[in-house]
Amino acid sequence: MRHVMAGMLASHGMALGRARLVQPSRYAVDTRPLAEHEIAGELEHLHRALDMARQELRELRGKLHGALAREVNEFIDAHSLLLDDAEMLRGLDDLVKIGHYRAGAALKKQRDKLAAVFEAMDDPYLRSRREDIDQVIARVISALQRQTSAEERKLAARVGEILVADTIAPADMAQLAGNGLLGVVTSSGSAYSHSAILARSLGLPMLVGARDALSLLHDDDLILLDAEHNEAIVHPTAQDLARYRAWQRQAAAEGRRLAMLANAPTRTRDGVDVRLLANAETPADVALARARGADGVGLYRTEFLFLRQKGLPSEDEQFIAYRDLVLGMGGLPVTIRTLDLGADKADAAGLVMRGEENPALGVRGVRLSLRYPAVFTTQIRAILRAACYGPVRVLVPMVTQPDELIAVRTLFKLARQELKRESIDLPEKLPLGAMIEVPAAAINVRALLEHADFLAIGTNDLAQYVLAADRGNDALDNIYTPLQPALLRLLSHVISSGRRARKPVSLCGEIGGDVHFTAMLLALGLNEFSMHPSQLLQVRDRVATLDHATLRGHATRLLRAYTHEHVAELLAELAG
Ligand code: PEP
Ligand code: MG
Repeated sequence: MRHVMAGMLASHGMALGRARLVQPSRYAVDTRPLAEHEIAGELEHLHRALDMARQELRELRGKLHGALAREVNEFIDAHSLLLDDAEMLRGLDDLVKIGHYRAGAALKKQRDKLAAVFEAMDDPYLRSRREDIDQVIARVISALQRQTSAEERKLAARVGEILVADTIAPADMAQLAGNGLLGVVTSSGSAYSHSAILARSLGLPMLVGARDALSLLHDDDLILLDAEHNEAIVHPTAQDLARYRAWQRQAAAEGRRLAMLANAPTRTRDGVDVRLLANAETPADVALARARGADGVGLYRTEFLFLRQKGLPSEDEQFIAYRDLVLGMGGLPVTIRTLDLGADKADAAGLVMRGEENPALGVRGVRLSLRYPAVFTTQIRAILRAACYGPVRVLVPMVTQPDELIAVRTLFKLARQELKRESIDLPEKLPLGAMIEVPAAAINVRALLEHADFLAIGTNDLAQYVLAADRGNDALDNIYTPLQPALLRLLSHVISSGRRARKPVSLCGEIGGDVHFTAMLLALGLNEFSMHPSQLLQVRDRVATLDHATLRGHATRLLRAYTHEHVAELLAELAG
């Protein structure tokens, strides 16, 4: 019989599929106290389960690639950190050793304790972090159960299914999405959760807080998930299905409308051309960039080659990757960024300094590359060789002052001489650019413009350094916003300095591909945006609705704002 379950919107869209229930890990644990002689064995059990959970997270990380991996790795990191949290581990050990709890009971007790702390928080966002605790403990309990019952985790999705669970970890969702999952309904959770954020970026419809979902539904029940109307319909009627088909037609038409933009120019309403570039690492990114009509690659992050394997990639390995990128773009310009290891990007080859107290403020990016001239030269040679196959620009990350650019240029010159001696083909002049992501580089940008052929603004890092707010720290969301007046003024300074020096300036941080910031960036005078290729059509569509002259006319008002709230108000007014 038809039944409607209400929930809360976490990610837009509709989906029709069979239910696949994942019951929450049973907390029905053995509560009998341990005898003294059982304690050591139980501790071993517990730690083996913790290790299995850590291993699972590592494996999940290995299975994900590209932009998705970047997004999900953050969540995996958060869960891994929890699993290694000294206080939590000590608490668990004490429960077993002193309280004589069995491993499962200790995990449940610890979960209840931490959950109570999070529940008591006023901030709904922080309250939603409780889910992370639930998901991590559920993972360990399920590992514990597998040790004794060899029960397989029931998470391999079949195509055409809608997952119904109490809560789902982001890493699991990413993996299931790759296996044909259509949508997600959870009985708890919030629209602020990591999973909800991920579902939105995966384009997977999701409903949270559908309280009775797990008790009312059965495996294989047909469900129409209608996130547009905050409901999931069990056993939908013909009328429901007609509504679904109408939605599908409308969504397909919108998709086609956007697809038509693939070959369209990127132009504002008043006829100003804007260049859209792609942030691309994988062959799939490159193919998408081409298919969606990117004007080139604005950011190729080479550290992926170094993070993927143990040991350093050889010159030939790097050359092949860069050459294939250049060939893949079929004559469009490609911007290869030299190695940006350090801070949160630790390498397997052991280049990154260990034990820095503040790695984000430490030896990262070009600072690290210049400490290893031999390693850097290998990369430079590979880039020079690849540049014979099409137009290449070289971008240097984390530049603070001109001498770094001068040193990089010198290394390029020496590598050229070396290659020439080896009679290897060489490209003509290669433009060398600086990333603007250190406040000093932005403030003193004119000094860099004397030595750089172009600039690329990395707002992800620039924002964190200007605001002294870690880009990965959820607790600082109210500070880490791209609408901060201080950031706007710096962007404006960099863009206008570049224009005066007649050197191209692009922006390749996440806001470049976020349509919420397109008007603001155009107002500040930006005309080269680099973004994940999946965003190209939306941004092109957005640009076409905006009037460049009007936006530019409001730049001064935006730059006079004192607070990010005020900037947001002005933007809302401008964007209409
Ligand atoms: C940035 O900092 O904005 C940027 C594009 O570089 P990454 O995200 O790789 O640090
Ligand atoms: Mg950066």
